[in-house]
Amino acid sequence: MVKAIVGANWGDEGKGKITDVFAAQSDIVIRFQGGSNAGHTIINNYGKFALHQLPSGVFNQRVTNIIGNGVALNIDNLLKEIKEVTDRGVPQPKILVSDRVQVVMPYHILFDQCEEERLGKKSFGSTKSGIAPFYSDKFAKVGFELCEFYGSDDEIKEKIERVLVQKNALLRDLYHKPELTVEEIFEKICEWREQMRPYMADTFTFLHQALKEKKTILLEGQLGALKDPDFGIYPMVTSSSTLAGYGSVGAGIPPYEIKEIVTVVKAYSSAVGAGEFVSEIFGDEADELRRRGGDGGEYGATTGRPRRMGWFDCVATRYGCAAQGATTVALTVLDVLGYLDEIPVCVAYDLDGKRIDHFPNTNELKRCKPIIEKLPGWKCDIRGIRRYEDLPVNVRRYVEFIEQAIGVPVGIVSNGPAREDIIYR
Ligand code: GDP
Repeated sequence: MVKAIVGANWGDEGKGKITDVFAAQSDIVIRFQGGSNAGHTIINNYGKFALHQLPSGVFNQRVTNIIGNGVALNIDNLLKEIKEVTDRGVPQPKILVSDRVQVVMPYHILFDQCEEERLGKKSFGSTKSGIAPFYSDKFAKVGFELCEFYGSDDEIKEKIERVLVQKNALLRDLYHKPELTVEEIFEKICEWREQMRPYMADTFTFLHQALKEKKTILLEGQLGALKDPDFGIYPMVTSSSTLAGYGSVGAGIPPYEIKEIVTVVKAYSSAVGAGEFVSEIFGDEADELRRRGGDGGEYGATTGRPRRMGWFDCVATRYGCAAQGATTVALTVLDVLGYLDEIPVCVAYDLDGKRIDHFPNTNELKRCKPIIEKLPGWKCDIRGIRRYEDLPVNVRRYVEFIEQAIGVPVGIVSNGPAREDIIYR
């Protein structure tokens, strides 16, 4: 049985925690898209961890963690993260890396930095991890699959030479930076192929066998539906699909095997980087929510950047859940809202003076203003509560309001950052 855990919003919904909880009941956890540009924060009995490249099942000995073919693999970051986790007392996790995964090359990171610099004020707010240049190369068919590193040295050098003709032209003429040599890239590949030998595997065959054996498989998404290149706020999106449907491609499993799509929804909104964000708030109101948000404030897990803040957006979240094909919702960070007398919620948009309930295309989205309703707050700390019925009535009212608005059952409520802060309905 395959279950996907994905985000309905702009990312940072708390997917890491929910995946960590579900990993305990899974045999396999797979990352199927994205790279080390985003991070999941996980708090468990080993401590607090920010994972960027590793699947969230690494804290669980019985889980096989897979980096699927759809991922942008940053080998240095992967090895660094394995070391960080094991140095802090976590036993060496079981990790398999798809032989078909493509590798983030040194020039991808360099180009990401150069391009953001060149764009200046018009930049995407990229984490400069090389993700956009990486996926561009993958689809331009000049990327390196991990398995290619194990071909003959001559073939590898010939390909590097071919790729560098184009890269060096850009470095020289567009970015005015020193050119790269075949030798330096080749040396890096030689180092990487030794380091990756213990991890590379035919994960496609492994997964098809696991499906036959009725193993429990978890697909772990990164970022959220609104950052999807097709259905998100293009161009302020990421470069690989963030949708559960892509899990089939990025992991290599039949689409009909994905039976459950747990979509993580945040009880308020936050976003990183530029792009449309209708329910965004500013000034002191935003500062307070940012300071109180998540676990220790709403700051990027990868960059430490302050996140943009906003109230819950029913329109965007309903759309995000639909894009994901949500079967159940996990509503997170509900505890954070306990300080408010009244909780503003964006219930619809005003587009050129007309009330709309659907999430429009980006061109129209730019002109949308939030229509806000206020729900009564609960003014207390709800962490530590373990049963839905024990939550204050106004908390339940808020949850049920959201459930009604998005049209998907809220099956899980997260009322704190720790593993145990979870309520099943
Ligand atoms: P992800 O990328 O979707 O996993 O999200 P992040 O890890 O970037 O952000 C979620 C943040 O919220 C992390 O700091 C989590 O520890 C924290 N978090 C997750 N669930 C809850 C919750 O229910 N309450 C609180 N207060 N924090 C939470």
